[in-house]
Amino acid sequence: MSEYIDVVKIFGENVFNDSVMRARLPKKAYQDLKKTIEEGKELSLEIADIVAHEMKEWAIEKGATHYSHWFQPLTGVTAEKHDAFITAPMSDGKVLMSFSGKELIKGEPDASSFPSGGLRATFEARGYTAWDCTSPAFVRQDAAGATLCIPTAFCSYTGEALDQKTPLLRSMQAIDKESIRLVRLFGNTTSKKVVASVGAEQEYFLVDAKKFKERKDLTYTGRTLFGAMPPKGQEMDDHYFGAIRQKIAAYMKDVNEELWKLGVSSKTQHNEAAPAQHELAPIYAPANIAVDHNQIIMQTLKRIARKHELKCLLHEKPFKGVNGSGKHNNWSLVTDDGINLLEPGKTPHDNMQFLLVLSCILKAVDRHADLLRESAADVGNDHRLGAHEAPPAIISVYLGDQLNDVVDQLIQRGNADHSLNGGKLETGVSTLPNLPKDATDRNRTSPFAFTGNKFEFRMVGSQDSVAASNVVLNTIVAESFREACEVLEKAEDFQTALHDLIVENCTKHQRIIFNGNGYSEEWVKEAERRGLPNLMAMVDAIPALTTEKAIALYKEFGVFSKVELESRAEVKYETYSKAINVEARAMIDIATKQIIPAVVKYTKNMAETVHLVRLVGDVDDSVQLELLKTATALLKETRDALKVLAEKAEIAYKMSAGKEQANYYRSEVCPAMENLRNPVDKLEMIVDKELWPMPSYGDLMFDV
Ligand code: ADP
Ligand code: MG
Repeated sequence: MSEYIDVVKIFGENVFNDSVMRARLPKKAYQDLKKTIEEGKELSLEIADIVAHEMKEWAIEKGATHYSHWFQPLTGVTAEKHDAFITAPMSDGKVLMSFSGKELIKGEPDASSFPSGGLRATFEARGYTAWDCTSPAFVRQDAAGATLCIPTAFCSYTGEALDQKTPLLRSMQAIDKESIRLVRLFGNTTSKKVVASVGAEQEYFLVDAKKFKERKDLTYTGRTLFGAMPPKGQEMDDHYFGAIRQKIAAYMKDVNEELWKLGVSSKTQHNEAAPAQHELAPIYAPANIAVDHNQIIMQTLKRIARKHELKCLLHEKPFKGVNGSGKHNNWSLVTDDGINLLEPGKTPHDNMQFLLVLSCILKAVDRHADLLRESAADVGNDHRLGAHEAPPAIISVYLGDQLNDVVDQLIQRGNADHSLNGGKLETGVSTLPNLPKDATDRNRTSPFAFTGNKFEFRMVGSQDSVAASNVVLNTIVAESFREACEVLEKAEDFQTALHDLIVENCTKHQRIIFNGNGYSEEWVKEAERRGLPNLMAMVDAIPALTTEKAIALYKEFGVFSKVELESRAEVKYETYSKAINVEARAMIDIATKQIIPAVVKYTKNMAETVHLVRLVGDVDDSVQLELLKTATALLKETRDALKVLAEKAEIAYKMSAGKEQANYYRSEVCPAMENLRNPVDKLEMIVDKELWPMPSYGDLMFDV
């Protein structure tokens, strides 16, 4: 039996959090820092020096030898450069451990090796990292020893954002400001701040580390590029919420322990729909912290896997034909004194503030569906969105029965006078209690669903950052709020103006509401009829970033400049092209060096068999012959497809980076990859298991 964890004791023990700061910092320094964190007041260098010193002392007690500005460039993962705390040796040859305020608040990593989309030529390499003091520093203990990680934003020399964090913080300011304006209209004079709050559920797969190593496709690309379906998939529905096996449970325990030490409130864990698929969800937190914590979660899932001889796959679609992985982004707006603006209460029809908020969100999502879709566009997610599994590539909003009915009343009659309630759940068993039922059922097929007191955006890919979606949500809702406030602040008759605005928003934007089956063919047609965008692929979604509508929106709220948007679009096209290029090359490599030789060997064996059988004479050799013929025909198909793929990949690779290249990869290289995969997957079903050069889907998913 493993040791028990004292959760309360270890929680946050490696975090430089408020209680550590209060205990260790001189009162004045603590108060100044709190002002910076809570009110955004500038921190003097003098105070920064004091904070840095204490942070270093504390980190050293935790074993830290290095510090690192920890940031999130546009690669989807985090970046860090480690510096030891040591000073230059003194005359006696000894060193001191030091860390200054300047080193804490500002870093200067060479920015030239991070994606910038043309924002920064390589000769203008300077980039800055700036301390985000609203997300606490932490000590990470791993094979490198212990490192003090300081969450930072990353900007170019000229101040353009080169990361995920900067625009997120900007968007949080925007939604804060407009939300406060909105609650003031309803007589709230006490709340000082509205925080965009996020809970990101993380899905992942676990496979055996040894088998992983035997698959070059997983090693190079994070997903399988070949692989026939095993006899059993997820059709039995026996994995979802199934009992967690001991080996996996031990892994989860270590993951939790590590996360709790880092102050990440890992709360929920369960098996997911596909075999070998699992989920972890923390308790929601302010958006920037949730984004940081999600990165920590992804890193921890990977790091702890090693210890258990497992590999954690964060790719959106590790296995073709099997449920993919996503990240459900739960989002709400909560005041500093704990009021959730998305809380409908028991009778939403007479909660006017809620109805205004809801109607503004409908307006925002309808107007900027393309941006929301784009925020979830990443290379791996192309295999997931719109592929008849959660969720479709079309953005729509699911309200559930209760709210849908209220909105219907508003649209049909101009006012709402009642709210449906859930009633009681009758179990029919006298010893079981009759439970009060939610007024609203769940809909797993909706990309943007109201779930009680929050919206759940389900499109984000499992390996992607959740920053981009929250930048979009915060900004588009800030815009609708601002428009509403402008009308209502001036209104002579507030109640009438409020009522009219809610009805107007609901009526004008009702096309975005959809409560049916999002996976169905009918919905695709219906959505088209309603004029809703259906952006199937990442390359189709990227142009949304630079429309006039998007540029005007982001400029108005100071979230992105036009140049920043253009650079982000460039980065995305390049990222796409590079990823597909690696996949195509990996396929070519594997097919040439592993698969074709294996099939050749098989056909040789079969040819010898046919020959020997014939020597015996008077025996039926038709089965052997048929196998040989099928295998050689598929071998030829493989070779031909390989040639085509190699040619197309070469053409694509030589094109100059940008939209055209990315589109070529999508329209020419991707189908060529599929055409190579098809005969190979058929061959896998024919060739002896001993000869097949890599573990099968069955080995990977059922033998963990
Ligand atoms: P569900 O079962 O509907 O997915 P959960 O209670 O499991 O709901 O929550 C899923 C995630 O949503 C968790 O990370 C949770 O902390 C988060 N969450 C709950 N309430 C809110 C809220 N008001 N705002 C943002 N996230 C929330
Ligand atoms: Mg959920």
